[in-house]
Formats: sequence, C-alpha cells, structure tokens
Amino acid sequence: MAASTAAAYSCGHCAFTHIVVARPGVALADVFHDPGCPVLRGVVDRAPAARRAVIAALAAQPARKRLRQ
Ligand SMILES: [Zn+2]
Repeated sequence: MAASTAAAYSCGHCAFTHIVVARPGVALADVFHDPGCPVLRGVVDRAPAARRAVIAALAAQPARKRLRQ
C-alpha cells in the first residue's frame, strides 16, 4: 500500500521524486519535493495531494484485497 500510494502521489508544484524501501513485511515510502516547492516550505498544504494518492492507490487495488483490510 505504501509503495502504490507513493507511486500515485503527484505534486502540482515541482518535479518531485519518491522512494520505496521494501523489506519482508515492511514497505516504507516517502516523497521528496524540490527545494523551492511551496509544499515543502509549508505555503501549500500537502494533505490534499496525499489524500488523492491514497484514494488512487485504494482504487487500484483488487476489490477482494480491499475487503480484507
Ligand atoms: Zn512539490
């Protein structure tokens, strides 16, 4: 889920990058904004983009898997 959320994340203010670190049973993901990005400086709220990424990741999951979580 963390990997698909990071992959679905989209910043409209910079050419961001994301990384996914996966170990057995654990997947960590983070998004890195460009240094001048207003999201990084706190001028623009990052919550809407994060919400859209989670919704897109959930929508991309097979229905059966969604029901189990
Ligand atoms: Zn950004």
